[in-house]
Amino acid sequence: MKIVCECGNILDDENLETTIPLTVFPDNDYYDLLESNPKTVEELVDRMPVAPMWECKVCGRLYYFNTGKLDVYKLEKEIFDDE
Ligand SMILES: [Zn+2]
Repeated sequence: MKIVCECGNILDDENLETTIPLTVFPDNDYYDLLESNPKTVEELVDRMPVAPMWECKVCGRLYYFNTGKLDVYKLEKEIFDDE
């Protein structure tokens, strides 16, 4: 699948020149899975509550494949932590 980003870049999870594919999942679902004691790594991976997210390499927008829809996020402001 391909998506044309708002900036014109063509996103495609098989083209790492234009796209950074990410994987996200809710912490709570992940901890529930760990507590269910999967017996093997394969079982753990198969049951991971993951959703893909793509980052545009040109403008940094994030495309989150939420259940049944595609959410788009754009950075509003960079916040630097001067510790
Ligand atoms: Zn973009």
